[in-house]
Amino acid sequence: MRYGLSCKKCGKQMAFKIRETKCSCGGTLLVEYDLEEAGWTLTKENLKERDTAMWRYRELLPIHKKENIISLGEGWTPLVRLHRAERTLPLQKLWVKREEQNPTGSFKSRGFSAAVSIAKEHNIQKVTVNSNGNAGSALAAYAGHAGMEAFIFLPQDCPGIIVEECKHYGAHTFLVDGLIHDAGKIIVDGEKEQGWYNVGTLKEPGRVEGKKTMGLELAEQLNWKFPDVIIYPTGGGSGIIGMWNAFQQLKQLGFIHGDFPRMVSIQEKGCQPIVNALESKEAFKPRTHGVRSSPTGMRVPSPPDGDLIVSILRQSGGTAIAVTKDEIQQGKAALGSYGISSSPEGAATWAGLIHLIDQGWIRPTDEVVLFNTSHALKYLPWNQHHLPVIRDYQEWVKLT
Ligand SMILES: [Zn+2]
Repeated sequence: MRYGLSCKKCGKQMAFKIRETKCSCGGTLLVEYDLEEAGWTLTKENLKERDTAMWRYRELLPIHKKENIISLGEGWTPLVRLHRAERTLPLQKLWVKREEQNPTGSFKSRGFSAAVSIAKEHNIQKVTVNSNGNAGSALAAYAGHAGMEAFIFLPQDCPGIIVEECKHYGAHTFLVDGLIHDAGKIIVDGEKEQGWYNVGTLKEPGRVEGKKTMGLELAEQLNWKFPDVIIYPTGGGSGIIGMWNAFQQLKQLGFIHGDFPRMVSIQEKGCQPIVNALESKEAFKPRTHGVRSSPTGMRVPSPPDGDLIVSILRQSGGTAIAVTKDEIQQGKAALGSYGISSSPEGAATWAGLIHLIDQGWIRPTDEVVLFNTSHALKYLPWNQHHLPVIRDYQEWVKLT
């Protein structure tokens, strides 16, 4: 397969590189494929014969050799219709995409299957990520499966069970006094000296490509149709970017017609940079002070390309809203009552749904998909680990 990189801002095209993700104009570089060539083998008919896993879309993933694919069985997660909820809400069709059923218990499995496969194809041995939790445990698992060394940096209030998961998969796991961007700074300060490959959000090309398969899959599961609305919890934003890219590619391939879905970003009050940027109608401004939200995957005060996320929301006719911690709790109980174990991020999409129905933004005739990105059990209280907490790269060097 032929593929290269293309800037989402200025359109400049260049050769595929695994460490370059920013164009000279400041835009984000995403992988672009020769879709004509992809269409020779990727057909709706051929897909019926393929594995029910993410790599069924291999023509749209940036790996040359099949033997480099690192897979734990990610993707093709169930899309479950909530009939009973439809009868209580004024809504005709409501689905939940059950991403918590991925191999590492969250949607992050997809991105890391792609990113670690790319790392393998380029003979990389040491991988590292800063994470609010689920990205860390996903990298730990995929690096373990590939035989790579993983270095994971997490905020010290990261849910304890997820910290344990990282250790369980054999990753070098560190807690940081600060938020996700403080953890990211340790990586940036040490990556050259340590020979780490940084798989942080939009730091390499694979994760957004893996997340893209959520969009491909959703369209296929709905029998090559777009839903009207997608409600998605947003932190770093690679899921929104990836899915939007998936929808464009499916249209270019001629697999699907009709209007794109309206994309909705959900954040928690107290850390809502996307919501603020959409409301202010100004260029995106990260604000890393005064963050008050809970330690979930949505707590990303400074996403690497906020402008791109906001432009996708606008282009799709979508929106962004911030919900409270209490509303997230209510969302968890509501989804639980329908048999769905939801993480705070997944529960937040329910809370967003209720707001949007109340506002009349979601109409009774809309077909809506919620993304349950992880499950409730990962967020149970856990106080067992005894890891030291570090503040910066120099402290890390002393510790190790
Ligand atoms: Zn550019």
